[in-house]
Amino acid sequence: MMDKSNAHEQFKKFLKKGKHRITPERFEVLDFALEYKGHFAADELYIKMKNNDSNVSRATVYNTLELLEQCDLLAKRHFGDNKKYYESSFNRKNHDHLICTKCGKITEFSNAKINEVVDSICSQLGFESSGYSFNIFGRCKDEKCENKE
Ligand SMILES: [Zn+2]
Ligand SMILES: [Zn+2]
Repeated sequence: MMDKSNAHEQFKKFLKKGKHRITPERFEVLDFALEYKGHFAADELYIKMKNNDSNVSRATVYNTLELLEQCDLLAKRHFGDNKKYYESSFNRKNHDHLICTKCGKITEFSNAKINEVVDSICSQLGFESSGYSFNIFGRCKDEKCENKE
């Protein structure tokens, strides 16, 4: 189990500041989201919570995920299929993604050069970045993927 107390503190401050209600349900969503391995759509998290006997409503899951993204505990991702995905950014390094358009496999990588390019573009164009997303689409070399013709 990871220590989530800092994440709880950060979220509590954010909720107070924005005058959002501080409810145990919101912290339950936070815990499940941080424990989730990999990338998830809101419904996937909702189903996982249901399967773990949580009574949190779908609407609460959806709006809490938005709040968690606003307070930088989660990152929102788009992988080219018109769905929104989330992943924990708590205690994690920034990273980018390779997306296999055949089997849907997502591989994470990080490369400091990409950050340098982002910084230099922003300083050249006088833009203050609040984040970026870099996806590479294509075909993976996984055996299972190659057989999926
Ligand atoms: Zn693949
Ligand atoms: Zn990722």
